[in-house]
Amino acid sequence: STRVLLAARPHGWPTDENFRVETVDLPALADGEVRVVNEFCSVDPYMRGRMNDVKSYVAPFALDEPLTGGAVGHVVESRSDALAVGDAVTHQLGWRDVAQAGADQFRKVDEIPGVPLSAYLGILGLTGLTAWVGLQEIAALKEGDAVFVSGAAGAVGSAAGQIARLLGASRVVGSAGSSEKVERLTSRFGFDAAFDYKAAPVREQLPQAAPDGIDLYFDNVGGDHLEAALDVLNPDGRVALCGAISGYNETEPQRGPDNMVNIVKNSLRLRGFTLGAYMHHAPAFYAAMGPWLASGEVVHDETVVDARGDVGATVGAFLGLLRGENTGKMVVRTA
Ligand code: NDP
Repeated sequence: STRVLLAARPHGWPTDENFRVETVDLPALADGEVRVVNEFCSVDPYMRGRMNDVKSYVAPFALDEPLTGGAVGHVVESRSDALAVGDAVTHQLGWRDVAQAGADQFRKVDEIPGVPLSAYLGILGLTGLTAWVGLQEIAALKEGDAVFVSGAAGAVGSAAGQIARLLGASRVVGSAGSSEKVERLTSRFGFDAAFDYKAAPVREQLPQAAPDGIDLYFDNVGGDHLEAALDVLNPDGRVALCGAISGYNETEPQRGPDNMVNIVKNSLRLRGFTLGAYMHHAPAFYAAMGPWLASGEVVHDETVVDARGDVGATVGAFLGLLRGENTGKMVVRTA
């Protein structure tokens, strides 16, 4: 198995030097174990936080240990009654081409004709569920809400914008980091308006895109985006604090918004979440998302980095994700 290790903790933006690739011979399977060839591995923004040696909601990655993360593949060898050769499974032993562990670490999934397995790392996986939970459970989306989504051309953001519209939002506005992405938000993902946050301050562009204000903000970015949203949130507005990627590679603590008093004046409710506590929403999510995908009411983009024969290319995919090189879900093809 070839896998990627954390060689040194990044300070600020990670570089290739923070990672190392090693190849090991896997031992023969023990009783109860299975071997899985990973078709796709996921790279995700939260992994950047796990590279720091700080206490958080998930333990930091250990130095000189293989990295882990979402992955999907097929069982190629089994010494467990729970899984058979050929089964498609999702699991957390990513950043490698072959995974081997007790069968209880793998979850069998149904292969849907016409849907690539990578969808289980994105729209049919934790990404889609994050958007679903953030909108409904955290921000209490109501019919008629005007919604703003930041990081809107990314995996969670593109799902959130579409789900909001399908659940009755009156207007959906998105922001992203290039004119191509902004064009895609309206032409493909059905946003009513969109802007490029790199072209001018968010504080100037958001009021133009949402002239009647917003009722719900789905925050993937934090920083300038959160501040701009607090300017335009209507009374009783709600915010799902999903992520704050604008600060993930900063070396100094980030200052908060300068307009926090609007939370008081407008009776706003800001609520953060990490998905782990909301996995019980998965059945309702799948019941809705399956038909939406089948009917084409929800579409999903993927940016696929080919790491076949070169698992080290996963590093480039991860660094590219942080720089915004992806549209939709960034996935790595490892087989
Ligand atoms: P994305 O597919 O959205 O990829 C990350 C994107 O972030 C990039 O494509 C880039 O797009 C954008 N970005 C990078 N730097 C900045 C910046 N300084 N300002 C604005 N945008 C930036 O990743 P995910 O969909 O997986 O994750 C989106 C967010 O959701 C992250 O904050 C992540 O941490 C969070 N998350 C939270 C979960 C939870 O349980 N709370 C679960 C899953 C994700 P662009 O070109 O537009 O800059």
